[in-house]
Amino acid sequence: MDMRACAAPDTILRGSESAGWMKKMRDCRIRGFFVTVYDVSEEIDPEKIARVKRILDGEGFETWGIGLPVGHPAGLDTPRFTYHEGWHVRRDIDGNECRWCNAVTDRLIRDARERVLILRELGIPVMFWDDDLRAGNYEGDVQGCFCSECLAKFVRAYPEFDRKDFGRETLRPVLKKDPAGLSEEELALREAWMDFISAGITRFMRETTVEGVRNGIMVMHRGDRRHGIDIPAIRKACPGCLFRVGELMFDDRSFEAPGNKRALAEGVLRHMALMGDPERIWSESTVYPHGALTPENLRKKIVLERKCGLRNINLMGVERMNSDAYYEMLEKNVRAFEETEPCLTPENLDGFDFETL
Ligand SMILES: [Zn+2]
Repeated sequence: MDMRACAAPDTILRGSESAGWMKKMRDCRIRGFFVTVYDVSEEIDPEKIARVKRILDGEGFETWGIGLPVGHPAGLDTPRFTYHEGWHVRRDIDGNECRWCNAVTDRLIRDARERVLILRELGIPVMFWDDDLRAGNYEGDVQGCFCSECLAKFVRAYPEFDRKDFGRETLRPVLKKDPAGLSEEELALREAWMDFISAGITRFMRETTVEGVRNGIMVMHRGDRRHGIDIPAIRKACPGCLFRVGELMFDDRSFEAPGNKRALAEGVLRHMALMGDPERIWSESTVYPHGALTPENLRKKIVLERKCGLRNINLMGVERMNSDAYYEMLEKNVRAFEETEPCLTPENLDGFDFETL
């Protein structure tokens, strides 16, 4: 089992100044950190990243990068954008701007690639893109960007659907979550649109893969082609890339709600089946917001992840594990986590008692 934690650069810098913080991490057998090295809300700061890496190197931790390439629908802790020429905010099917979400454009991909090259110079060996890298928000209908520029790009790529009145209203009925009742022609348009939005994310992954830096994509819970996330296509375009499954259930209320542990496991197993080799797959062991998933529920979540066969545990946001109780729990249970054998499959979920974790 490989357990790592996500942290902002400032968390590492502050941690290095507080007595015992690094030891606490080591005691939990955290092997390294995913450090937020690129975020569309601010320019990359090579000097700061180098400082963070020097500290972590000195403490015996590996430094991997995490990037937020398009913004995040929740805004999270960084509800701002630094706009660049050639970027635009995604528009939904009603034509409204999607909060804090950029569309994946040529320029946005080029800018991300340039930043990966800077990170390579700094010795960052792994770059993981946060689950904001998608063309749609959680669940719902097939999404994408419905601005006039993207619609025009679609009909250029798929001229068979080009007609005078093509627009959002042409797409609206065929992109409903449930495709039941659609004609063959409507299904073809639906598939073409999903191919189109997925091609953008897949190309992002391919073009930000540079020699010397292993690339990875974090997939949101139940993320799929509706959101432009085509896992088999990404695997084909980026052999050897890393994945993170999507789990959601970041707080006690959602984790404890009836049926949600099963939904979590079902989603993890579905993603794992598409992602391939378990060595390349990471968990989404997230606490959000601060302290909202108690240490005991985080313990249960990690046990559940291990039972699903996840070998790599990604503690997302150490900042939000805001009491020593989390680290005490991890230290006390790390051996039990390691010894937890995979036993869940899509077929046996119905017979599993999720209350015995
Ligand atoms: Zn657009």
